[in-house]
Amino acid sequence: MHESSICRGLLQQVETLAHEQNAASIKRITVRLGPLSGITPWQLEEAYNHTRQGTTAEYAELIIEHAPIRVKCKQCNAESEVTLDDLNCTHCGDSQTTLLSGEELILVGITV
Ligand SMILES: [Zn+2]
Repeated sequence: MHESSICRGLLQQVETLAHEQNAASIKRITVRLGPLSGITPWQLEEAYNHTRQGTTAEYAELIIEHAPIRVKCKQCNAESEVTLDDLNCTHCGDSQTTLLSGEELILVGITV
């Protein structure tokens, strides 16, 4: 249910954009998905396939861009790109890091 409500929110944004561009149908939707967004690309596609029916995005292709996980170290202040398995600073190895990005699910744009 979580995924489908995320997807409905996304499609609402898509429909608003399509309306602004006077588009009757959409060819492609591009989203940016972070590994910490709480939704996997697979779940997003599943939910999208269920949610898009009857919308202007019904025949649109969903492109998922993968956002990196970036953290800022509280010890050395450096920013690093990390993986889900290891969120430690890559410069000094400290585990006291703040998340800068990786949680996002953003609509990048649509092609009409
Ligand atoms: Zn550090």
